[in-house]
Amino acid sequence: MSKPSVAILGLGIMGSGMARRLLSADFSLAVYNRNRKKCLPFAAEGAFVAASPREAASRSRIILSMVADDAASRDVWLGELGALSGASPSSVLIESSTLSLAWVTNLAASASERGCHFLDAPVTGTKPHAASGELLFLVGGAAEGLDAARPVFSVLGRDVIHLGPTGSGTLMKLVNNFLCGVQAASFAEALSLIDAGRLDRAKAMSILNGGAPGSGILNRMAERVAADDFTPSFALRWMAKDLAYAIDSAFSEGVSLPLATAALSVFQQAIATGYGDEDFSAVTKSPQKRRNSQILGQRR
Ligand code: NAP
Repeated sequence: MSKPSVAILGLGIMGSGMARRLLSADFSLAVYNRNRKKCLPFAAEGAFVAASPREAASRSRIILSMVADDAASRDVWLGELGALSGASPSSVLIESSTLSLAWVTNLAASASERGCHFLDAPVTGTKPHAASGELLFLVGGAAEGLDAARPVFSVLGRDVIHLGPTGSGTLMKLVNNFLCGVQAASFAEALSLIDAGRLDRAKAMSILNGGAPGSGILNRMAERVAADDFTPSFALRWMAKDLAYAIDSAFSEGVSLPLATAALSVFQQAIATGYGDEDFSAVTKSPQKRRNSQILGQRR
């Protein structure tokens, strides 16, 4: 199967790993990043460094965005010199960032007006999975676009799950991260209680991880806490963003997520304390004790 030309928009933690995978598989690759400095190593590795998303898109049949949030996605696709204005009709536009349902629906409509295929294809997995091509793509959109994008997905991911029409991938990803965010926030509270009661942290963690509450996310967070290493694989501010998008998107489906709302306030507190750019597991460093006493104080 011949390899389509690809553009990657966004060379952050995830986009940079994905771009390197494509280069190592000999794809013809154009890259764009807002902060141009992050592009420089990719030029040395054989990528074409585009001055704008439009230039990157104009050279590519498959255009994949991996940026921060709705505002960033709007900028790279529809901004001045945005990718949509450079994309040729029948090219495949892939939005892999974790975004709100409302924005993805909007973007898909703009893509369709231009005659392009559009897939929302957010991912599960984190920094090492992006670097090693072991992401899981959760795809919404028409099968025709997905078929054209498969050679790219097969290099970047361990699997691709087609969930249905536009927005299905996004909704699935928001459900996934809602559960992760709530677990992470509840773990932060549990750790406060473990510390306040002077329980041995290591023993407590082995009991929790080996028992019913144990999970991938608990395990990962416990390792970070034990090593006191909060270098971001997935930034705390993006977990807060995903909880907020889950709440909004659920609301538009007529569902309320009170636990996501509570978890979001735990993450917002951590951002206010200065942990937004650290790994999301830094939510455990946030002053839960004070929060609880404030809440109890309000109830008395
Ligand atoms: P990141 O390292 O913070 O990178 C964010 C990227 O977005 C950077 O390239 C940044 O450009 C770009 N950006 C931000 N605002 C922009 C704007 N207004 N216009 C153009 N570009 C803009 O984030 P990441 O961890 O790679 O995550 C990217 C997306 O994947 C997010 O939606 C995240 O929720 C999702 N995700 C992340 C993980 C993970 O484990 N990290 C896992 C699954 C999904 P600059 O370099 O110029 O700032």
